[in-house]
Amino acid sequence: MIFHNPAGAPELACEQCGCRWFDRINDTCYECGTKVSAESIAEFKLAVEHFRARETVRADEPRAAGTPAVR
Ligand SMILES: [Zn+2]
Repeated sequence: MIFHNPAGAPELACEQCGCRWFDRINDTCYECGTKVSAESIAEFKLAVEHFRARETVRADEPRAAGTPAVR
């Protein structure tokens, strides 16, 4: 599950309880111990890349908060 914080940055959250804290060594949720799937991690990394790309665009061309990015 991927959340977006108010700044628009993606945050990885537990599929089961929505907790955003993970044991980085074992890739498990701190709250319920659910294992983070490889797909979730891959999806999260992709979201971070998209977010960074958008940030670069926004530096040149400011847009209103909440407006979907047009590609
Ligand atoms: Zn959890």
